[in-house]
Amino acid sequence: MRIVLPENVKFIIDRLQSAGYDCYAVGGCVRDSLMGREPHDWDFTTSALPGDIERVFDDHKTLDIGKRYGTIAVIRDGVHYEITTYRVDGDYSDTRHPDEVSFASEIGADLSRRDFTVNAMAYNERDGLVDLNGGRGDLQYGVIRCVGDPDERFNEDALRILRALRFAAVLGYSIEQKTSDAILRNRKLLGGISPERIRDELLKLLCGEKADFVLRRYRSVIAVIIPELKGTFDFEQNTKHHNRDVYRHTVAAVRNIEPDPMLRVTMLFHDIGKPLTQTTDKNGACHYRNHQTVGAAMTKEILKRLCMPNLFIDEVCTLIRWHDERFRPDTVLLKGYLRKLGARAMKNLYKVQRADILAQSSYMRDEKLSTLGASYNELTRILESRECYNLRMMAVSGADLIHIGYHTGAEIGDMLEILLDKVIDGTLPNDKEALLSYAKSGFDKA
Ligand code: ATP
Ligand code: MG
Repeated sequence: MRIVLPENVKFIIDRLQSAGYDCYAVGGCVRDSLMGREPHDWDFTTSALPGDIERVFDDHKTLDIGKRYGTIAVIRDGVHYEITTYRVDGDYSDTRHPDEVSFASEIGADLSRRDFTVNAMAYNERDGLVDLNGGRGDLQYGVIRCVGDPDERFNEDALRILRALRFAAVLGYSIEQKTSDAILRNRKLLGGISPERIRDELLKLLCGEKADFVLRRYRSVIAVIIPELKGTFDFEQNTKHHNRDVYRHTVAAVRNIEPDPMLRVTMLFHDIGKPLTQTTDKNGACHYRNHQTVGAAMTKEILKRLCMPNLFIDEVCTLIRWHDERFRPDTVLLKGYLRKLGARAMKNLYKVQRADILAQSSYMRDEKLSTLGASYNELTRILESRECYNLRMMAVSGADLIHIGYHTGAEIGDMLEILLDKVIDGTLPNDKEALLSYAKSGFDKA
């Protein structure tokens, strides 16, 4: 088995070997290389202690990533390469961090502390592939399997539960039976894991090709980290527009949108407000008025708890708040939305609505898609023609108004909004002279 190592990777391994140490590429990069995927980074495991690593690379910039855990980053051509001493993790008093790490002298000990067999392989050109846990076979058959006893491994670090789901979603692998049973049995342990670690794994999971399968099969695990979703499980919708319960519809909507974290998170939560807003009319049909607003508020709390960045939270919540808006191919109307929400959100809303419609029943689907498509075409036309829809695009600014005699901020602000209204509805052209003349007459009257 041969893996083509990049020059810098070979250099690092050679350097440590020439200094008398063992060194291998390890983990995700070996897994990805064997799968024919380009690794996004390369990690190393070595018999050298952190101090030795720093000494061997004393002509390089190095960073102490976690010396206590044996990790030093060597920076070469601007890229960080993490090199970690062979490690065995000590006793665990909680489910997060090893209390102590002891360094090992053999690679076998290091590989057996790793989470899954496909992540527990090492490689260098001298020794070839080191696969002591059957990782290659599991890779061939597409299986996620714990190294060692799954219950023990999840008790040592419960994040591994979510990592298993993440790898299953991203690689499209199945989870081996004993590992899967232990995931379900131990899922509550995820409650003790820091939100930042959960967040990172969850976003990767959601962007996986098989995210839909994992979200369905392991929904009880997802419910530990996001209990608010439980209300959507098996929640029947009772409307012609839907042929799935809210959670199944949600999962289908996640699948229907491109694997971008913001869009996938939006779809995961877009209907979370439905169970709380259901009403039944006299014909027995259900309605969900304001589920967008309620859903956006719930999502904000969830995403804050998961330590997502504020900008990300705001963008997701805007998309959820407006996901059910019926856009029509009407220029004035669309410019009004562009003014309020901006071009980026509007383009994303189109994707969100399309994914949503495709996850609904076929009732009126063609009509919905064709109205949406026509609206999108008009939106694109407006954006490409650079027609004015916000204050920044207007041919006059506050300074121009001051020039013709406006004084207070309020006066200026009000007149600018009036001018924009008129430009958008077509009563005034976006032309400096015409706008100033209108503003002047308004000012003279006042
Ligand atoms: P990615 O493609 O996301 O980088 P990866 O497998 O490289 O996937 P990392 O989080 O970068 O994942 O971890 C590198 C390696 O460290 C893993 O392949 C695995 O061998 C080991 N590892 C990471 N996290 C854990 C954990 N929680 N428990 C045990 N081993 C772990
Ligand atoms: Mg990695």
